[in-house]
Amino acid sequence: MDIIHLLPDSVANQIAAGEVIQRPASCLKELVENSLDAGARHIRVIIRDAGRTLLQVVDDGSGMSETDVRMAFERHATSKISRAEDLFTLRTMGFRGEALPSICAVSQVEIMTRRAEDEVGTLLEIHGSEVVRQEICECPVGTNIKVKNLFYNIPVRRKFLKTDQTERRNLITEFNHIVLVYPHVQFTLVDNDEIVSELTPGTDKQRIEQVFGKGTGRSFTSGLVDIHTETEMVTIRGFIGKPELANRQPQQFFFVNGRYMRHPYFHKAVLSAYQGLLPGDLNPSYFIYFDVNPDRIDVNIHPTKTEIKFADEQAVFQMLLATVRESLGKFNVAPSLDFDREGELEMPLVSSIPAATPQIVVDPTYTPFHPQTYHRQSYEPKVQGWEQLYEPQPDFKSSQPSEDTALFNLDLEAIVPYQYDGRYILLPAQEGLLIINQHRAHYTVLCAELLENIAQQHTLMQQVLFPEVLELTPEEQTVFLDAKDELQALGFNLEQLSIREYSIMGIPAILGANSAVPVLHNILAHVRETQSSARTEWQKQIALTLAKETAIPYGKQLSEVEIRDLLSRLFNLPTYRFAPDGKRVVSVLSDDEISKRF
Ligand code: ADP
Ligand code: MG
Repeated sequence: MDIIHLLPDSVANQIAAGEVIQRPASCLKELVENSLDAGARHIRVIIRDAGRTLLQVVDDGSGMSETDVRMAFERHATSKISRAEDLFTLRTMGFRGEALPSICAVSQVEIMTRRAEDEVGTLLEIHGSEVVRQEICECPVGTNIKVKNLFYNIPVRRKFLKTDQTERRNLITEFNHIVLVYPHVQFTLVDNDEIVSELTPGTDKQRIEQVFGKGTGRSFTSGLVDIHTETEMVTIRGFIGKPELANRQPQQFFFVNGRYMRHPYFHKAVLSAYQGLLPGDLNPSYFIYFDVNPDRIDVNIHPTKTEIKFADEQAVFQMLLATVRESLGKFNVAPSLDFDREGELEMPLVSSIPAATPQIVVDPTYTPFHPQTYHRQSYEPKVQGWEQLYEPQPDFKSSQPSEDTALFNLDLEAIVPYQYDGRYILLPAQEGLLIINQHRAHYTVLCAELLENIAQQHTLMQQVLFPEVLELTPEEQTVFLDAKDELQALGFNLEQLSIREYSIMGIPAILGANSAVPVLHNILAHVRETQSSARTEWQKQIALTLAKETAIPYGKQLSEVEIRDLLSRLFNLPTYRFAPDGKRVVSVLSDDEISKRF
């Protein structure tokens, strides 16, 4: 007796549903994608009990004919492709023809739909793949689908659902993935009869603001910078977060051809561009949209279509890395805006870089490390090693918007700075009260000066009377051999004693009486984390570590002379509001904010 037979559709559909519809969120995704594929401009999503009892999507798209709506619930029924080749020119979200049959296999579906050319619409009700009702109905053009009691007939699956709170969060995540790529479509989200989201049509950026800016009282997108690059192969555009806005719960999104995707490999590219700009536990936000010819990607490797394979993965990786770097570079050269207040442009305090002078300008009177002496300096910027860190486009400065260079002067000599709490320096300025973090200010200054020294090959080394011995682990040894030149350029003079032992004969002058051993271990550890092989990246990492080790600590009382010295060096930098690791150095308490307190 033959034993192989075909599964009844209802069973096959339930099995397929296991892959496509794991939870309310995946169901929502499929429904909304269908509405988008149908050309809808307004989409209303209604959920009840985190999608357990009801998931409803109402659209004003094309609608379906009486026959089509019946067909739509058959397996592999789709209007979107008809030949295998069509997969390579795909411009729709759906194509597998699996969603509706899967959904109707595990729930009670009621759908009303009408095309513009039809007088009346069709109402169809299907419970667990069984059609229980079909009749003509009156309804607006478009489709209104209700999915009720998801998994009502599969108790095991229902048990797998998480708490309402978690499922609701999943729903919103899925909703966001979609609305972010369709900013021109109006979306409304109704949760248990309450409108929780009303997104009006606009630009990408406005949509991001609508989704993530709400409720925080400040602009989310002002913390983002644009990225853009275009080649034959791919267009990459979007927005990346300024380093100082990095946090533990960043918003990170990749989209390709109007579809959200996960891409761990490209994620790495973005992170490497931020290398050294962020403390280890913080992450940048990003919203990056790829546009590629559909024949260069494969969307079909997973039923939920979020894992996408690129044919030119490595080339795209490189382009992504380069474009993110470039934008970070621009941002770091550009005077920073204050993100705390929306729409208001905060002027930098001293004259910034004159236009179009990308090379380093050497100041012959430049004296790097004398914290005890205050050098009167004109407030023309001199130390210009800063932008080297980020390798910006050479033509960048000339394209600065003019408001960035419209500055006012801060006459340091006329002002008495005040040290507060051994941590902050308070300074009245035209814009309000400046609060300067003394430790960060100092390491920002030191790091810039060290890099300037490296660039000028101006080593400030101090000989050691009683050399310490540095013992390296095999791992440190490899890093050390690679970073030897940079260390030497900073003033470390090491003589090899045995295979992994060195005698420290000279140290950077900046170290003073500090022991060099822990500092060197620390530097090597940081360099090891820098995966970038770019020399500038290494130099920056080494200089930053050294600067942090030697900067004045919190709690140190400073004399007025020391404060003035620090401030004059800080304000001499082309940018100084943020430290090289992205931390805020200067904060402004505006007159408004002060007067509000009274
Ligand atoms: P796919 O989207 O992969 O084609 P689905 O099972 O999601 O498969 O949908 C089957 C078909 O039903 C679609 O190809 C489309 O023609 C039709 N359809 C589904 N939802 C809608 C909708 N909201 N508006 C118009 N047509 C729809
Ligand atoms: Mg679909």
